[in-house]
Amino acid sequence: MKIKNPATNKVIAELTDNSPSEIKSKLNTLRKGQKEWSRLSVRERLDCIVKFGELMQANKEELAAILTSETGKPLQQSLNEIVGAQNRIDHLKNNAEKWLADENLVDSGATHEKIVYEPLGVIANISAWNFPYNVGYNVFLYALVAGNSVMYKPSEYASLTGKQFEKYLHEAGIPKNVFMCAIGDGKLGQRILKEPFDGYFFTGSHATGQKIASTVASKLVPVQLELGGKDPLFVADDVPDVKVAAVNAAEGAFYNNGQSCCAVERIYVSEGIYDDFVEAFVNEVESYVLGDPTNPDTFLGPLTREQQIAVLKDQVGDAIAKGAILKTGGQAIEGEGYYFQPTVLINCTHDMKVMQEESFGPIIGIQKVKDDEEAVALMQDTEYGLTAAIFSSNEDRAMEVLRQMNTGTVYWNCCDRVSPNVPWSGRKSSGLGATLSVQGIRAFVQPKSYHLRS
Ligand code: NDP
Repeated sequence: MKIKNPATNKVIAELTDNSPSEIKSKLNTLRKGQKEWSRLSVRERLDCIVKFGELMQANKEELAAILTSETGKPLQQSLNEIVGAQNRIDHLKNNAEKWLADENLVDSGATHEKIVYEPLGVIANISAWNFPYNVGYNVFLYALVAGNSVMYKPSEYASLTGKQFEKYLHEAGIPKNVFMCAIGDGKLGQRILKEPFDGYFFTGSHATGQKIASTVASKLVPVQLELGGKDPLFVADDVPDVKVAAVNAAEGAFYNNGQSCCAVERIYVSEGIYDDFVEAFVNEVESYVLGDPTNPDTFLGPLTREQQIAVLKDQVGDAIAKGAILKTGGQAIEGEGYYFQPTVLINCTHDMKVMQEESFGPIIGIQKVKDDEEAVALMQDTEYGLTAAIFSSNEDRAMEVLRQMNTGTVYWNCCDRVSPNVPWSGRKSSGLGATLSVQGIRAFVQPKSYHLRS
């Protein structure tokens, strides 16, 4: 498998794909390893995870360089991702023993009833490339702490990063038969689905998630899907400072080149501040430095996947044909690498793809709304349900809007953020199940009820 640098289009590494028989033999090895691993205490398992976190932080420059080389993420954002991921480990360190402890419920008379949380077994974790450190951590660390073993299939666009996980987890004391990478493309992912894993945990697109859920349905084991979004932001007319709102909205839309599941993908603006907002927003976007992702000043690097350029061009053409105004950008950049200009479309309407389909790139549609009721109706009008945000100075007003959102996460005066304290979950076409928080660890255990009489 050839790994290309999306900034230069050059091959930077070659890896050998795993064969189907290797997947089978890895699964057998992981099954044996899981039995031993699950006998350790939660604290002993956590000690390895904490050590892994220390190794990641100690080697963050090298890890960031690898991530940038294979995904084109600007170096500073790669570093942010590694540093930011540590909060999952701290949170697990402080809470996992409590979350996984036996629950002694009734001890009256001769009968004792309790719940014991047992691991699922061997987990298949098929993952995405856009925040590979974060989305990997969100799944496999919780699975490991809960006593499972894991086969981790990174995206073919983040395979070098996946190999680093394997290296440092093993160095941190996680046995080699408890965490293993499977290297390959989507076909290898399909192959993994054929094997009898005890749970399938997937991060990626809605289209692939749906295929995975239907393929493994007959196995009757847990399936969890963290999928895409078309996340709306409503900028209400009572924001204290339109310019500040525009700067924050632009960062929510363009960080990581818009390649975030929870990136702001469409913006609704109250008519009273619409023109001022658009002007400030476009000024901010035009100030972004685009170019070599290893340059510390770069905010926008190349797209990770060349195929996405066609999707973005199509959305721009469709919007313009249906009456949108292109305020800036709109074109792929000729030459080396998969660069696309940061693009702002205004006067958008809901018959446009840019307001309905995940863009996953540096492009945003903005639409004017007359009141909160119209904003709520439009915010709800896609197949997705990952996050929704409002900027407003009035908490009651914001809460009334957020209460009506059928999404896993809502934001008031912030956007595009994830925290280990609260569950991360999608509704509708954005997914099934939750990662992070107590819910994220309970996903990897099954309760056993004890009825005990002495
Ligand atoms: P894809 O769905 O293309 O791929 C995800 C993973 O599935 C990859 O490892 C891929 O392998 C593998 N795969 C592809 N086809 C199959 C198949 N038929 N059977 C089994 N596995 C398969 O998603 P992307 O990697 O492009 O990720 C981007 C998407 O992920 C966006 O929609 C984004 O919103 C979403 N996402 C959601 C998050 C959330 O928490 N809700 C977080 C991050 C991203 P390969 O890449 O090697 O082809």
